[in-house]
Amino acid sequence: MKDNKNFDVIIVGGSYAGLSAAMALGRALRNVLIIDSGLPCNRQTPHSHNFLTQDGIAPAVIADKAKKEVLKYDTVKFVTDLAVSGRKTDKGFEISTQSGKVFAAKKLIFAAGLKDSMLKIEGFSECWGISVLHCPYCHGYEVKNQKTGILANGYGAFHLSRLIRNWTKDLTLFTNGKSELTQEQTDEIKRHNISIVEKEITSLKHKNGVVEEIIFSDHSSFELKTIYSRPPFEQHCKIPELLGCELTEQGLIKVDGFQQTTVENIFASGDSTNPIRAVSYAVSTGNNTGVFLNNAMTEEDFSK
Ligand SMILES: Cc1cc2nc3c(=O)[nH]c(=O)nc-3n(C[C@H](O)[C@H](O)[C@H](O)COP(=O)(O)OP(=O)(O)OC[C@H]3O[C@@H](n4cnc5c(N)ncnc54)[C@H](O)[C@@H]3O)c2cc1C
Repeated sequence: MKDNKNFDVIIVGGSYAGLSAAMALGRALRNVLIIDSGLPCNRQTPHSHNFLTQDGIAPAVIADKAKKEVLKYDTVKFVTDLAVSGRKTDKGFEISTQSGKVFAAKKLIFAAGLKDSMLKIEGFSECWGISVLHCPYCHGYEVKNQKTGILANGYGAFHLSRLIRNWTKDLTLFTNGKSELTQEQTDEIKRHNISIVEKEITSLKHKNGVVEEIIFSDHSSFELKTIYSRPPFEQHCKIPELLGCELTEQGLIKVDGFQQTTVENIFASGDSTNPIRAVSYAVSTGNNTGVFLNNAMTEEDFSK
């Protein structure tokens, strides 16, 4: 790339949120650079659901189609690389990448998503997104009425028990150790015929990510077809925090109603900013971010 120093906006993360922001900005004649490392959080899921016009399509196919559409605009450039650091300059920001390149822009958008931390249970990561599911709206219909487990504890377990019961009544809660539910939550769960198993889990027996049994530390096992779990997550990219962007208590990038972070000229969108994890949401906030940021830039330019 000839000129690494002259972008209006650098977008870190070129999946659904980043591409959507780039489309709005590229069409608004802003020079945009997308830097993307190619590891979206849903990459192991065979089919993505609940996004109009793309229901049941493989996640990478949706992203590839989006990328082709966005790169039709000569205002948008895309590099496959990992952004490793960022710094504020007189004119805006510089972003350095793993391959040693340095790019500069007036504004930044972070759309780098979240990284789910896989539970330390053998087989968990292999089943993630295939038969260990994070969201019933995305995958619940396909596994409705199946023998299903919830692998969670505390309030999260109560919330998931209440929610997943809408898709199947054949439900067992696995707390993987002593239950942290309140007595009231326990009574409510049991009243709906959901058993609570507190035994420690050592592994998930599976074939190519399709779970068959939960294996416990006492060597007993439990057959089932599907598990819901919400493992902890962290920001996929740490640069926003290093540039001073505040995070919420949940570990999401704090943004206002215009997707502006707590640091001037840095915006963020998609999963990294909101607990609603869905392609539709990422696309929507990404597009909004592009529009809000362009608006801010037109105001700045006009007042000069
Ligand atoms: C297992 C699973 C299954 C899912 N299934 C569905 C579904 O069926 N339907 C649905 O609507 N939603 C689904 N989701 C949710 C959906 O995948 C997310 O909401 C969506 O991917 C968020 O988009 P995003 O652009 O914010 O982040 P991501 O899609 O996670 O993309 C972030 C991008 O930023 C890049 N990146 C990160 N750090 C850097 C860096 N430092 N430098 C450069 N690039 C970087 C990553 O490589 C990645 O390409 C699923 C999620 C998971 C975890």
